[in-house]
Amino acid sequence: CGIVAYLGRKAAQPILVEGLKRLEYRGYDSAGIALLNDGSIHVTKTSGRISALEGILDEPHGWDTLGIAHTRWATHGRPNTTNAHPHLDATGKIAVVHNGIIENYATLRTWLQNEGVVFRSETDTEVIANLIGYIYANQADAGLPDDQSAFEWAVQQALRKLHGTFGLAIICGDFPDTLIGAKRGSPLILGVGNTEYILASDAAAIVEHTTQAIYMADNEMVLVGPDGFHTKTIDNVTIAKDLKQIEFSL
Ligand code: GLU
Repeated sequence: CGIVAYLGRKAAQPILVEGLKRLEYRGYDSAGIALLNDGSIHVTKTSGRISALEGILDEPHGWDTLGIAHTRWATHGRPNTTNAHPHLDATGKIAVVHNGIIENYATLRTWLQNEGVVFRSETDTEVIANLIGYIYANQADAGLPDDQSAFEWAVQQALRKLHGTFGLAIICGDFPDTLIGAKRGSPLILGVGNTEYILASDAAAIVEHTTQAIYMADNEMVLVGPDGFHTKTIDNVTIAKDLKQIEFSL
């Protein structure tokens, strides 16, 4: 339903919680946040309101400057805490928030399970996390081109196998300075601030921080790092995109 992700110099958690509140008007059944700190990803999620999420979050830390957050409107799997996003892959390295529906999730899930991957939720989204995590752990060394990180490459390979719709924000424990977004059939906007980026499904979560943005198109992905962002297709063709002024009033 709603995505907000942050990469910058400030503590990510308060910005993500505020962003989730800006998305509340769209409706949701559960909410969650993943923060990257010191190579590991910490997930906090719950069914119910964002106020319930706030009640179980730790105090924000200034060093947690990268994170992803989600409000879920369940399509595959009951609206409960386990099925809430973010979803980690089985290795705990990859965290994903997802809007949309993966149509071939059952096939992919069976294939991954036959490879020994253990699933925890009933969602189509966990298939995305596990597919990226599996490719990252098992195949990245083999096919990795010089100009791509194993994280980026694994995301691309996984996205090409997905049928259906996605707006995605993805992080990897081994890449504390990288946020990846991707889109097909579900909106995704990258707000570009001075020293910070906010990736969101809705301008409402961005405008408080910046009014400069790029609007992602279908089958595009964006790699965001501390020194800038890079847009390309999921088939790895670089595309230049213009910064646009967000027209939106709170
Ligand atoms: N299909 C996903 C799920 O059921 C995402 C739902 C959404 O867009 O919130 O978990």
